[in-house]
Amino acid sequence: MEKFYLTTPIYYVNDVPHIGHAYTTILADVIKRYKQLRGLRVMFLTGTDEHGQKIERSAARQGLTPQQLADRMVAHFQKLWATLNIEYDAFIRTTDAVHVRGVQKIFSRVMEQGDIYRGEYAGHYCISCENFIPDSVEETADGKRACPDCGRLTDNRVSETCYFFRLSAYGDRLLKFYEENPEFVTPRSRMNEVVSFVKMGLRDLSVTRSTVKWGIPVPGDPQQTIYVWFDALSNYITAIDYLGEGERFHGLWPADLHIMAKDILKYHAVYWPAFLMAAGLPLPRKELIHGWWLKDEKKMSKSSGNVLDPHILLRHFSPDAIRYFLMREASIGADGNFSHEGFISRVNTDLTNDWANLVSRTTGMIEKYFAGEFSGAGLYTER
Ligand SMILES: [Zn+2]
Repeated sequence: MEKFYLTTPIYYVNDVPHIGHAYTTILADVIKRYKQLRGLRVMFLTGTDEHGQKIERSAARQGLTPQQLADRMVAHFQKLWATLNIEYDAFIRTTDAVHVRGVQKIFSRVMEQGDIYRGEYAGHYCISCENFIPDSVEETADGKRACPDCGRLTDNRVSETCYFFRLSAYGDRLLKFYEENPEFVTPRSRMNEVVSFVKMGLRDLSVTRSTVKWGIPVPGDPQQTIYVWFDALSNYITAIDYLGEGERFHGLWPADLHIMAKDILKYHAVYWPAFLMAAGLPLPRKELIHGWWLKDEKKMSKSSGNVLDPHILLRHFSPDAIRYFLMREASIGADGNFSHEGFISRVNTDLTNDWANLVSRTTGMIEKYFAGEFSGAGLYTER
């Protein structure tokens, strides 16, 4: 039986799940069900990303250990997925022992292979993204630099020893791979974005932190922890027993589909393939990039207080209505707009009028012409 291995990103536990998480996960669930109906053996993976300084700090503020905070948040995600009828096959947590040891394994392998080396970093650091800000970013008059990922200005400077991944050596190989696999990233516009990013040149990437305690220790150097993205991306292999690297792993890897929102495209389409090449592993077959959900045409954000909590919708509507709306309202790749009016009108027009009407007419005819019993159904044929 042909296999189909699909994944959502693992969700960061610094916040409760919002409509964006629900969208990605419902999309994955719908694709899973479709593939299953087509007779494929499907493996659907989701999970949670639990390490990093943000978790460390937010736990401290709440008087919890990072593990306690993570446990609490994971329960929110799992409960929501159960309510939304998400039928995932595995749930990976980056604090799972099998993940921790799997990440150390891939890290060691890349290091032995020569593409992770020890170096020095001095410069600006964005705590929010847990990213070093390159020197090429211009400094403001008061000594701040804008994080290229989130745009926040920071004057937070660090100087530390860390390990770097030789990303600069992978530009040509990545470009060759994209050229040979033009469908690797879909929609096409996102593939073009990735290609131009790589063509601008790649710098080596720092893959450890000495300042972050809540993370996976570097094998042989426990003063350092592994960079959250190196840790997080590896979940796609650790969840299927990369550690054992036996039948289960080889029967599922490479993944057939990684699904994600556009803001984490670079990590998945540039860093992840480069890490895999360095570890001597095959690359995922396809990455599907979707847009964001806007609320009344505005970007949702904590600061504007317009983040949509799926639990509020669930108080008034069935999970199926929510699943239907999210799948129907936005075309994959484009941003979707959520408005309460739009939601109600979809439910009334598509589900109540059209769909319910079709079902009621059909069952009515079965009663009228077939005495309420329908047997001998055959497969659909052209004539
Ligand atoms: Zn940032």
